[in-house]
Amino acid sequence: MICSIPLAALLAASSGQDPAWTQAKLEATSAEIQKDVEELRGVKFLRPVKVKLSDTAGLRDYMRQREAAMASPGRLHRDECTAKLLGLVAPGLDLRALEMEVLEGQVGGFYDPSSDTFFLMDAMKGAVAKVILAHELTHALDDQLHDIDAVLKAANDETDAELAIRSVIEGSGTNLMNRWTVAHGKEIPASEMQELSTMGADALRKAPPLLWKPLIASYFAGDGFLSRGGGMNLTMKPADPADVDRAFREPPRSTEQILHPERYWDAGKRDEPVRVKFDTRKLPEGWTELAQDTLGEMALALLTTPVAERKGFDMSNPMSVLGLKFTNEPAKGWGGDRLILLGRGDDRFLQLVTVWDSVKDAGEFVGALEKVAPKLFAGPRDAAAGWVARFTPTHFDVNARQDVQSPVFVVVRAASFTAADDTAFAGLDVPWSSGRESKDGPAGSGKEPGGSAKDGR
Ligand SMILES: [Zn+2]
Repeated sequence: MICSIPLAALLAASSGQDPAWTQAKLEATSAEIQKDVEELRGVKFLRPVKVKLSDTAGLRDYMRQREAAMASPGRLHRDECTAKLLGLVAPGLDLRALEMEVLEGQVGGFYDPSSDTFFLMDAMKGAVAKVILAHELTHALDDQLHDIDAVLKAANDETDAELAIRSVIEGSGTNLMNRWTVAHGKEIPASEMQELSTMGADALRKAPPLLWKPLIASYFAGDGFLSRGGGMNLTMKPADPADVDRAFREPPRSTEQILHPERYWDAGKRDEPVRVKFDTRKLPEGWTELAQDTLGEMALALLTTPVAERKGFDMSNPMSVLGLKFTNEPAKGWGGDRLILLGRGDDRFLQLVTVWDSVKDAGEFVGALEKVAPKLFAGPRDAAAGWVARFTPTHFDVNARQDVQSPVFVVVRAASFTAADDTAFAGLDVPWSSGRESKDGPAGSGKEPGGSAKDGR
């Protein structure tokens, strides 16, 4: 777990006067805070936690290794194409490089589930280090009890399910860390409480919301989810340990459940995602499938955010933190979605089928997207501009299927063609069907008629 710990940065900042860590001192401090964590959670560690110091180079190595071990091949490409085709990031952006920069600037420590080891960044000192220890040791405890890697792998590389699980992991760490901080407030010097951290602030300030919002949401909305309040847990309400256990054993399936906790916790309001299944036997000729994904409510909220409001994040301003919203009206009423990405040489085609709870919800999504689209999609690329910005959308359209009563579908299509070819875009379509997911597994053959270019619009 890479831990950016934004709240820790708000509560305490290093005075920079502490002497450097020694391994012995780190182990002693860790042992002391492990006892606090056991007390606050009401569970004992099953085995000792290894602790080490890391520098930035060590963190970079770790991030590369984790990615190789955890992400499926093609995932980075899928995520970059999706972000660019849907206009979530600027066409020329090196997404990977900025993502690394954002993470590196934010990380106070990290817990490596594959080696059961917690690493504290060597720059962390004093009260900040202790707050980070409380957070990371909670990850260690959760890992011993629930096997974090196994829980994460169950998300199957799906953006929505994985962010929901990350929110449980980071929410658990954040909730306990905040309780530790409140309980030990007297031990933290006032000077360290007042000073705001500027850790990684530059990278965050220039990052598109796609790079910082889901990351920050996993801490704040995850904490709100586990404490059953939703949104920011400003009162620092403790999460019931039984709830934390349940969320690890039966992880929420979507960010919709994280954002609206009653749709997970309240049996009467339980809302499982509607699954959309593409018929990949009927791909348009000449195209091959590159990847599929489910984006979820939180990502669709980013997609429908007006372009002028898509800004970086100013962590030094507490009001901008407290005012954070992780969903919006157009994304509320999400019922499910599925995206397929096709390739033909350097051309890319993306089809996103979204499912909505009502005609009104679908209409709000279409309306918001239609306002955003003209600012992002300028139409066929000027051939003279060449192939500089890869995967820039050259074609885009949104279509609601309001002839179907329930559920209601909205199909978004985007393509990046290397040569102007308007007519070919009109015919691109992958048939699909849908069905409500049962508790035991994904939908089988859909109950809805398969969508096609003809009945889709
Ligand atoms: Zn964490």
